[in-house]
Amino acid sequence: MYSIKLHPMNIQNLIKGLHHVTATVNGAQEDVDFYTKLLGLRLVKETVNFDNEKVYHFYYGNEMGSPSTIFTTFPYKGQGVRDGVIGTGQVYETVFSVAGGALGFWEKRMKEHGLETRREKRFGYEFLLFEDPSGLKLSMIEDDSDNREPVWTTGDIAGENAIIGIHSVVLAVEETGETVSFLNDFGYSAIKKDGKYTLLETSEKGAGNSLILLDGSGLPNGINGLGTVHHVAHRVDSIEDSLKIKAYLEDAYGISVTEIRDRKYFRSIYFRVPGNVLFEVATSGPGFLVDESREELGSSLKLPDWQEIRRDQIKKNLAPFTR
Ligand code: ZN
Repeated sequence: MYSIKLHPMNIQNLIKGLHHVTATVNGAQEDVDFYTKLLGLRLVKETVNFDNEKVYHFYYGNEMGSPSTIFTTFPYKGQGVRDGVIGTGQVYETVFSVAGGALGFWEKRMKEHGLETRREKRFGYEFLLFEDPSGLKLSMIEDDSDNREPVWTTGDIAGENAIIGIHSVVLAVEETGETVSFLNDFGYSAIKKDGKYTLLETSEKGAGNSLILLDGSGLPNGINGLGTVHHVAHRVDSIEDSLKIKAYLEDAYGISVTEIRDRKYFRSIYFRVPGNVLFEVATSGPGFLVDESREELGSSLKLPDWQEIRRDQIKKNLAPFTR
C-alpha cells in the first residue's frame, strides 16, 4: 500500500533566509533613540501591534527595509508586561553585520554613550557584544562578504561603518540535537561548529541567511517579557510556499501552525519548533512601500484599513515620541 503524502517531500529550498526579528522592549522613546540615533538604522515603519493597538510596532532596517535587514520592536512600557528572562527556547542574541574594520568605530561609539561592550571570537569571526536599553542581547560581526544594499547612513555614521542588516540570530536550546535535525529539514544546514555554537545557513548562504545554535545547557528557561526577543521570521517568496511549509510541518512533525495572517507588509504563519523557539514564516512582499514612498518611509503613523477609521482614538492611547 502507498500512503498518500499531502505535504511535499521536503521544503528545504523554500526558506530563503531571515526576514525579521521582533522583540518586546520597554519605552518607545528610548527604543527609537537607540536604534535610529545610536545604531543608525532607519525607522522604516511606525505602526501599531495589530494584535494590541495600544502598543507601537516599530520597524527598523536598511534604507528600504529589505527583508533580512529588519529588526522590529513592541515597546510595552506601562502595559503591565513583566520583565522577561533571556534563556533557552528563545532567540538569545541578534547579530548585525558590518564591514571589516568597523568594529573599532562601534566600540568607541558605544563607550562614548556609556555602553559596555565585549569582544568574542566565534567561527574565526570577530564579534562585538552589547545590550540595548531593555537589556536585549545584541552583537555585531565583521563580514566583508555581506554586500546587501542599500545601506542607510546618517550624519555621524558613514557607509563604511553602517550596519548592513541582520547577520543571524543565536537560538538557545536545551538539546541541540533535535533542533539541528529540524533546522536541516526546514532549510538551514549546519556548516561549522565552535565550542557550544553551531553555524547554519540556507542555500542562499551568508549574512541574512544564517542561524547560530547555542547549546543552552546551564542557561535559565527563557520567559517572554520586556527585554526579550518574541520571535524570528524567515522569508519565503510566496503564500503558496508558506502553505507548503505549513502542510509539511503539520504532517511530518505534528507541529501546529497558525493560518496565514495579513501583516500588511507581508503575510505570515507562526509555530514553535523543537527547542521551543517561536518561528514565523513571512513573504518577502509586498513590503514597506505599499503605504509610503521610499523618501517618506517611517515618517508618520501608518495603520491598516480596518484600524484607520479609529485613528484619532488609537493615537490618543499612544505615548508621543520624537524622531
Ligand atoms: Zn514577526
